[in-house]
Amino acid sequence: MIPDDHPRAASLMTREKLVDGFKRNIVVAEGLIAHGRGEAFDYLLGEKTTEMAESAVRAAAALLLISKNAVLSVNGNAAALCAKEIVELADITGAKIEVNLFYRTEERERAIKAELERHGARQVLGVGEKASARIPELSSERRRVDPEGILVADTVFVPLEDGDRTEALAKMGKSVITVDLNPLSRTARAANITIVDNLVRVMPALVQKVSALKGKD
Ligand code: ATP
Repeated sequence: MIPDDHPRAASLMTREKLVDGFKRNIVVAEGLIAHGRGEAFDYLLGEKTTEMAESAVRAAAALLLISKNAVLSVNGNAAALCAKEIVELADITGAKIEVNLFYRTEERERAIKAELERHGARQVLGVGEKASARIPELSSERRRVDPEGILVADTVFVPLEDGDRTEALAKMGKSVITVDLNPLSRTARAANITIVDNLVRVMPALVQKVSALKGKD
């Protein structure tokens, strides 16, 4: 039980969501460590959205709307923290959802797919045999993508991604949007649009911004 008036309530609740995701096989232990790095940067940024991040959210919303074939790439941490908003963003932009994991197991892919479906996702790509295509330049299981999803996407939204894959997607000519609290990471530097903010604040803001811009010239 985390009291609402606890000074670190929001941060503690975010941790609880990840721990819960860990127990349900959605998040891996390494994901908890990655979150710790994010928390440290968030602390330094005052745990609030900067004007620069707001501009980046606006640019990301516009790019998602003008893309012909956008894909939202989902890993364990993103599913544990924001499954509801990911589904909302897909619905409102028409983007596809693809599970894309650094530590890939089919069991975890299925757990993440189920979590997204629990929040209303109608189609989830990238699970099991469906991830049969390869990203050139990457080795191991990390290069597997869905031939109907990331492989043919013009824009890929990859929150909390690792640098190698972000660089590889950019080299494939895709427009890459990321969310990363560390502005120095390779991901943050390789993406076309980098939102330096906490994913838990970004997702609701992105859904809201897309709603505001939708239908505009
Ligand atoms: P890179 O490979 O891009 O140089 P890295 O190896 O430092 O990055 P990873 O461990 O692959 O990073 O991924 C964790 C990244 O995600 C970190 O940069 C961390 O700051 C960021 N991060 C973690 N949790 C969040 C969150 N909730 N919101 C935004 N960013 C986050």
